[in-house]
Amino acid sequence: MGAARKLGLLLILLLLVLVVGALLLVWPRLEGQPPTISLPQTPTHLGRANTLEITAKDAETGLSRLKVTLTQNNKEVSLLDKQLGSGGLWAKGPADVTEKVEVKALELGFAQGPATLTIEVRDCSLQGWFHGNLARQVYDLNIDTVPPRVTVLSRTIHLNRGGVGLAIYKVSEPTSRDGVQVGKRFFRAYAPWPQDPLARLAFFAFADDEDKGAPIKITVEDLAGNPATASLMVRLKWKEFRDDSLNLSNNFLETLAPRFLGEAPPDRQSPLQVFTWVNENLRQENHARLDQAVRVSQPYQLWEQQPFLRPMGKPMAGFAERRTYLYEGKPVSRSTHLGVDLADVAMSPIPATANGVVVFAGPLGIYGNCVILDHGLGVHSLYGHLSALAVQVGQKVAANEVLGRSGATGLALGDHLHYSVLVGGVFVSPTEWWDPHWFQDNVDLRYQEAGLPRPTAPRP
Ligand SMILES: [Zn+2]
Repeated sequence: MGAARKLGLLLILLLLVLVVGALLLVWPRLEGQPPTISLPQTPTHLGRANTLEITAKDAETGLSRLKVTLTQNNKEVSLLDKQLGSGGLWAKGPADVTEKVEVKALELGFAQGPATLTIEVRDCSLQGWFHGNLARQVYDLNIDTVPPRVTVLSRTIHLNRGGVGLAIYKVSEPTSRDGVQVGKRFFRAYAPWPQDPLARLAFFAFADDEDKGAPIKITVEDLAGNPATASLMVRLKWKEFRDDSLNLSNNFLETLAPRFLGEAPPDRQSPLQVFTWVNENLRQENHARLDQAVRVSQPYQLWEQQPFLRPMGKPMAGFAERRTYLYEGKPVSRSTHLGVDLADVAMSPIPATANGVVVFAGPLGIYGNCVILDHGLGVHSLYGHLSALAVQVGQKVAANEVLGRSGATGLALGDHLHYSVLVGGVFVSPTEWWDPHWFQDNVDLRYQEAGLPRPTAPRP
């Protein structure tokens, strides 16, 4: 065996090491796992203008390219073609990409009718002849560029500041969202008539803190996201709410503070500091919790009797009173009283003011032991400061059924009932709901104008 042969073997060995080394380096880049594609919702419709949010992921070699195309008959438009990672032997793309793709179907010249959306993503693998693994999603959807029409069925709506209006209208096609917009607040509509599924009803509030000139209109969006608005004839009756000053005595503060001491932050422990924390911060927290509770509402009217019952008791404080609390003659805190206070004999039984379902029963900060009822169509009633509760969440109650007993829990000193009505989560004046004339002129008249019956629950 000569030196040449030895050299030959060495070369073969070296080559082998190189090949194995290269294979080891390249091996992970030969993975066969395709990327994934996801959207927040499966696209079923495209309107005049939509934004698609597309998320692509690839944990192995990363993403290399994202393509989105829209086709209809022989027309094909590329909505996006984006290089995400660079190619090459050592390249690696991003593991996770979210792209917002604007689709303007009308501007792009697409016609009404069926179309196909195709999303393709490739990763940086060397599979597929170096093009990477391919993931493809195909969605058959409908292009609809015609905005919905709204026919208002209500005539002039008389609205009080802090009060409620009822709008009835019809839409020309199914909607994904519709209701009444009052300034920045949106009041969702319901479709409570099975015989007329495109008829809509929305109770809306003009909140006590709403701007005088707040625009009020119906806003609608169809399934393809095409928006439309319609104006409502509204006459707003402005009124001023009472201003009230209350002197905080040391006696009041010292009685109240122990109830909230455990909850108030460590740097707010004096009786006055506890009070201002309860009146401002805790009030806000309680209203956020309350907001969640009243998000649940039945899609038809649960109440039978109109007006609502008025619980017994002498009125002690009215709706939307602006309260300024004085301590040693100086203003220390403010709040708005978003209900009516009624005082009767201590621990008197508190009745449900209309048929409903209990959506909250328990302690709620400033409201003490509290019951909230859902009356359907976004209407709720609240009973605060109770000493004892007699109902549970989920329970159905009839008008006049006892919910509990009056008390002085929460932010209260003497035994009384705090009663509130909410519409679409907004506190409104309860007195309208106790007034038979208000129901005639603002609720029943609306159904007559629209030629529709009261929206009670369908009979099983
Ligand atoms: Zn009250």
